Amino acid sequence: MDPYPDAVAQAVSTGSLPGWARVDELVLEAHTRGLADADGTVADYIPALAAADPELFGVCVAEVDGGLHTAGDAEVEFSIQSISKAFVYALVCERLGHVAVRERVGVNNTGLSFNSVIAVELNAGHPMNPMVNAGALATTALVDGGTPAAQWAAVHDGLSRFAGRTLELDDEVYASESRTNGRNRALAQLLESYGRIEVDPLAVVDIYTRQCSLRVTARDLAVMGATLADGGVNPVTGERVVSAQVCRDTLAVLAATGLYERSGEWLFEIGLPGKSGVAGGIVTVAPGKAGIGTYAPRLDRAGNSVRGQRATAHLSRVLGLNVFASAVHPRAGGTPR
Ligand code: GLN
Repeated sequence: MDPYPDAVAQAVSTGSLPGWARVDELVLEAHTRGLADADGTVADYIPALAAADPELFGVCVAEVDGGLHTAGDAEVEFSIQSISKAFVYALVCERLGHVAVRERVGVNNTGLSFNSVIAVELNAGHPMNPMVNAGALATTALVDGGTPAAQWAAVHDGLSRFAGRTLELDDEVYASESRTNGRNRALAQLLESYGRIEVDPLAVVDIYTRQCSLRVTARDLAVMGATLADGGVNPVTGERVVSAQVCRDTLAVLAATGLYERSGEWLFEIGLPGKSGVAGGIVTVAPGKAGIGTYAPRLDRAGNSVRGQRATAHLSRVLGLNVFASAVHPRAGGTPR
């Protein structure tokens, strides 16, 4: 049942970024500010992630006209981890549509950590949203393809189209996480027992573990984000990856849930949809304007990159990206009311 059946044509986010040189300058400034913060710890529950250099820090802004601004280690590869959830969700929405996916996977924050089992139990087997592990597993299970191999091929191809290049699997991270992901296997089997996964749950965990192990850079994340900012067209390749409505739906889910139980604080400070991953990446989307990609491995307690949050908060403010910020409309013939 669609509780909002009378939706009409959508308005779109408006405004533009400052000129090219100014954006370049501000990206450097955001990087410098982030560097000052050495808080947080590198994730180690997936053993291969613990080896990351904690000092790495890259920032990239991809404008919807395809222009890129980078600072620091924006070309260093790391595993995409949970950020993949946002893009797989978009691909599944493209296939199944708005209402079906909301009913099946949900759009509300659990208020609990990303790998919570109790969240599933508290909600009678409903995963609640696609950005926590349970919801992401339920979403990956819905990817098109008759076999796990075909589903993986669809995920790999879809994420690569968002990035505008063929992403490669990090074999070491994939092997390391496959050995240690008992909790995700438990979640998938729990969801199967509630009828929320209708294919082999362990095959779903394998595809999910692969999607999390794809290697990206901060630059890739910015381009992937810019695709969601640009009504579903990759601004670098010009290819349409998903529809504009799917972008809108995905960004709404990210605003509510992209930074797990810290999503409210993130939205309050930054005012944009974003998604983090435990390897240290964050993608942020300013609809109609740009995608922001950051990489820095030290994380806060919820699993979100500390430097990435700092740099993105700065960019949101100085570039005027917060979707909740408005100014009084200048009325004809005079001063604002
Ligand atoms: N692959 C990771 C996991 O399933 C992703 C988690 C994350 O990035 N928060 O635990």
